[in-house]
Amino acid sequence: MSTGDLIFFVVFFWVVFITARLAVFAINIDIKLKKRLWPIIIFSLSGMLLVIAYLLDFPTKGYVVLGVAVAAIIYTNLKGFYFCESCGKMLANKKILVTVESCEKCGASLK
Ligand SMILES: [Zn+2]
Repeated sequence: MSTGDLIFFVVFFWVVFITARLAVFAINIDIKLKKRLWPIIIFSLSGMLLVIAYLLDFPTKGYVVLGVAVAAIIYTNLKGFYFCESCGKMLANKKILVTVESCEKCGASLK
């Protein structure tokens, strides 16, 4: 597998994650269910990515890149969004390094 293939693979999954995110944003389901589904979606997509990498016979070096990519994907997707039960919305956390404590839209505490 060449570096080009690896880049294609990572970009392809990046697009899959963005699509999943848009779908979760768009679907009209209970916020509590969304909140519960979100990590499941992220972890199952990450797992799928690793399984496909295994099936594609990734070189050892490729796994290092993939490991970093998967960790970054999981982190940004879990920390990058929060779910407000008061207004029933899934919102983007713009300050990704900070845990959101109150809803940007309605100001309700998220704890
Ligand atoms: Zn809110």
